[in-house]
Amino acid sequence: MSDTVPNVTLNNGVQMPILGFGVYQIPDKETEQAVNDALSAGYRHVDTAAAYRNEEAVGRALKAGGIPRQELFVTTKLWIQKRPGEDAVKRAFKASLQRLGLEYVDLYLIHQPLGDYYSAWRAFEELHREGAIRAIGVSNFLPDRLVDLIAHNEIVPAVNQIETHPFFQRADYQKLMHERGVQIESWGPLAEGKNEIFSNPTLTKIGDAHGKSVAQVVLRWLIQRDVVVIPKSVRPERMAENMNVFDFRLSDDEMNEIAKLDTGVSVAFDHHDPAMVSWLNDRAE
Ligand code: NAD
Repeated sequence: MSDTVPNVTLNNGVQMPILGFGVYQIPDKETEQAVNDALSAGYRHVDTAAAYRNEEAVGRALKAGGIPRQELFVTTKLWIQKRPGEDAVKRAFKASLQRLGLEYVDLYLIHQPLGDYYSAWRAFEELHREGAIRAIGVSNFLPDRLVDLIAHNEIVPAVNQIETHPFFQRADYQKLMHERGVQIESWGPLAEGKNEIFSNPTLTKIGDAHGKSVAQVVLRWLIQRDVVVIPKSVRPERMAENMNVFDFRLSDDEMNEIAKLDTGVSVAFDHHDPAMVSWLNDRAE
C-alpha cells in the first residue's frame, strides 16, 4: 500500500486504505487516463462497479501501472440482478473479474439492497471462501436491512458503503455499524459538489486556518471519524489535493463545528422512496 495512506482493519483482518479513488460517472474513454493519473498521484485503492461500465478501463490502467497486485486494493460491485439465484451472481462476479483482468478482488459489494440479495450474499460467502474475494460487503443498506442481513447469514459484511458527507453525516448509523463490526465507507464524500459545499463558510474558515482547501477539510474530517473515503476527480491537481490530507489535524472544536452542518438528509438518493426503488429496479441486469 502507499506509504502515506493509513489502513483500516476490516472484521476479517484485511487491511483497506482509508482513502481511495472513485470512478463513478467517469466515462469509459476517460477512465483509463484518470486511473493512470490516480496511480501516479499515489492512490492504491480504486472503487468501481459493474454498473459504472468502466471496469475494463480500470483493469487496463491497473495493468499498465505495473504496481504489484498485493499493493493495490480494488473494489467492485454487483448490480441488481434480474434473475434470482446464486449461479447468476457468480456469473456476474466472474464477468467483473474478467473485465478487470484480475484474479481476485479485494472487496466485492452488493451495490443496492434490492432484488434477491440474500442469494447474492450466499454466493458472496462462497466466492470469499474460494479465495476470489478478500472481503465482502454491501452498499446503500439502511440500518434495518443491514441488521437483518447479519441475522440470517454466516459472514458479517466487512463494509457498508453509504452516502456520507458534512450534510448527511450518519453518526448514529456509524455507531451501530461499528458495534456490529461493519466498517463505514463514504460515497459522495464531497457531497458530489452539491449544497455549495466548496464555498461553505464553516468549511472555508476551517480550511483557511490550516492552509487547506474545503475538499481537504472534508476528507480530513471523515478520516478523523474513521470513515473510508473515495473522492472522485478527473483532474490530476485535484487528485493530488485530495490525497494531501495526512499532514494536518482538525481540533475537537473544528470537528464539532462541522458536526453542526448535518441536515440528516441525502443530497442524492432516498432509498425509502418507492419511485426511486422502481427507477433502480428498472435498471436491473
Ligand atoms: P464526490 O463527493 O467524490 O464528488 C465528486 C465531485 O467533486 C467531482 O465530480 C469533482 O467535480 C468534485 N471535486 C473532487 N475533488 C475536488 C476538489 N479537490 N476540489 C473541488 N472539487 C472537487 O462524489 P462521487 O463521485 O459521487 O462519490 C465518490 C465515489 O463514491 C464515486 O466515484 C464512486 O466510486 C462511489 N459512489 C458509490 C455509490 C454507491 O451507490 N455505492 C454512489 C455514488 C458514488
